[in-house]
Amino acid sequence: MRLIRQTAFALTFLPACLGLAQGNFDNVTIKTTPVAGDVHMLEGAGGNIGVCIGSDGVLIVDTQFAPLAPKIEAALKRLGDGKLHYVLNTHWHGDHTGGNEFFGKQGTVIAHDNVRRRLTEKTNPAVAPEGLPDITHDQGLTLHFNGETIRVVSLPPGHTDGDCYVYFTKSKVLHLGDQFFNGKFPFIDLGSGGEVAGYVRNVETALKLAPPDAKIIPGHGPLATVDDLRRFRDMLVETTGIVRKAIEAGKTLDQVKEAGLPEKWKDWGTGFINTSRWLEITYNSLKAK
Ligand SMILES: [Zn+2]
Repeated sequence: MRLIRQTAFALTFLPACLGLAQGNFDNVTIKTTPVAGDVHMLEGAGGNIGVCIGSDGVLIVDTQFAPLAPKIEAALKRLGDGKLHYVLNTHWHGDHTGGNEFFGKQGTVIAHDNVRRRLTEKTNPAVAPEGLPDITHDQGLTLHFNGETIRVVSLPPGHTDGDCYVYFTKSKVLHLGDQFFNGKFPFIDLGSGGEVAGYVRNVETALKLAPPDAKIIPGHGPLATVDDLRRFRDMLVETTGIVRKAIEAGKTLDQVKEAGLPEKWKDWGTGFINTSRWLEITYNSLKAK
């Protein structure tokens, strides 16, 4: 039952919490930020999009919500007139794959095996064939495009059981998808095979990989530095440690929520995952182990 609830949360709660009822995207504008080299970041509603644009054409990482696709396409055209060749998905959630059907008619969609599986199983609305990944993998792969060596790295279960990060080695830009919510508590989708301990380990892995001057595109929140990612890791380690100790002491979820978290983490609960929800996700995941 919990699994069903968690998945329902992923499908419906995220857009709702972003203030986006279906079809209510009229006032969303797409903001473009140069990141480094040929890599840019697009922010609209939903997961941040990474763009690599150059002499070979265009590659994008994630596609936000379906109704935003024409605005995203217009923003891409303002960056250059190259053809869209590749669409990479960091994971299956609708705020990262909603535009797949639109962009999948132009380019090849590449994602983890479990992204295709979950999108295939999705109903209400179902995903049309163009929106499903054409190339899937479970061990990662490398693209050579626009003079970049682009590494798509498959992660063990964390945010979901099908997350990848994308590293542009020449520009030193890392797109972490929802393995990174910059400055906010993250959503971890326990109903899609996600788990809190694995999530923290994946952030540690990313920190080991990133050179000190790397630029980091988070799934949600502003463009980040390695220091921002380190702060996120510190928050995860400390707050999940508090919950782990409470479980070991036999506390109930209600008692953990009642006790709350130290004041210094208060601002982290102002996104779409508040402190109470973060404690609940952490408690349920650690307790299930
Ligand atoms: Zn997500």
